[in-house]
Amino acid sequence: KKKPLPKPKWMKESVPGGQKYVQIKKKLRELNLHTVCEEARCPNLGECWSGGETGTATATIMILGDTCTRGCRFCNVKTSRTPPPPDPDEPGNVAEAIASWGLDYVVITSVDRDDLPDQGSGHFSETVQKLKALKPIPDFRGDPGCVEKVAKSGLDVFAHNIETVEELQSSVRDHRANFKQSLDVLVTAKYSAPAGTLTKTSIMLGCGETPDQVVRTMEKVRAAGVDVMTFGQYMRPSKRHMPVSEYITPEAFEKYQTLGMEMGFRYVASGPMVRSSYKAGEFYIKSMIE
Ligand code: SF4
Ligand code: SF4
Repeated sequence: KKKPLPKPKWMKESVPGGQKYVQIKKKLRELNLHTVCEEARCPNLGECWSGGETGTATATIMILGDTCTRGCRFCNVKTSRTPPPPDPDEPGNVAEAIASWGLDYVVITSVDRDDLPDQGSGHFSETVQKLKALKPIPDFRGDPGCVEKVAKSGLDVFAHNIETVEELQSSVRDHRANFKQSLDVLVTAKYSAPAGTLTKTSIMLGCGETPDQVVRTMEKVRAAGVDVMTFGQYMRPSKRHMPVSEYITPEAFEKYQTLGMEMGFRYVASGPMVRSSYKAGEFYIKSMIE
């Protein structure tokens, strides 16, 4: 059996704490809300929730419950074929929580709900309407009607993650997700959302991909009209999840950043600790100015 790779010194975790952290956590439990920050055991939690160096506090709320109908090999979210029905109070509770925190930026994402007739797109759209924010979005199995419903809900950024290079899709993601379906989702979102809405995607590196595969994937993503792309290091949430194949060096991440900007993305975030929602508020402001 192969031993896990030792963690290099550049993979630093920030320790959660402080007043804002305590306040956010308390409100989440009161309102029965879930965050990716906690479910994914994100190493940036301390920094994001407290605002970090820039003072721009960010959190990622996960809607449609805490249980996903899919089972991707990198993901720490609970799975079940029959999760409980969505909480009808959730859209209102999300709005209430956000109003009470005064966060600078909120990312709304969700589990995949292959069990629901509209795959949760109605619930998603209602949450967005109750609150104007930025949201990473499931693939709704590529159903253009569902994608359009959310793309037209008033969001600023339609973010849907392709997660890994084209060649590794089936070994990393759940079998119901794939590269073409995700690119189609991003294309549909681009043409159905109001002009000026940005599209965004993210991939994790260190899953066994080659640099050539990363570059080809970037080209295809750019050709799908995607405005923003982020690159981060895959970290194994537990021993049940796929192992890390490689720790990508900060220098290699920087090269993708430069290349992405040359390819014409409006904004690229690339670094070992970057997550799809990391510094989302900052990127939004920057990509609108530049
Ligand atoms: Fe939460 Fe995203 Fe920050 Fe991680 S990077 S703590 S998931 S907002
Ligand atoms: Fe996790 Fe995959 Fe479900 Fe997304 S679709 S929440 S990555 S298991």
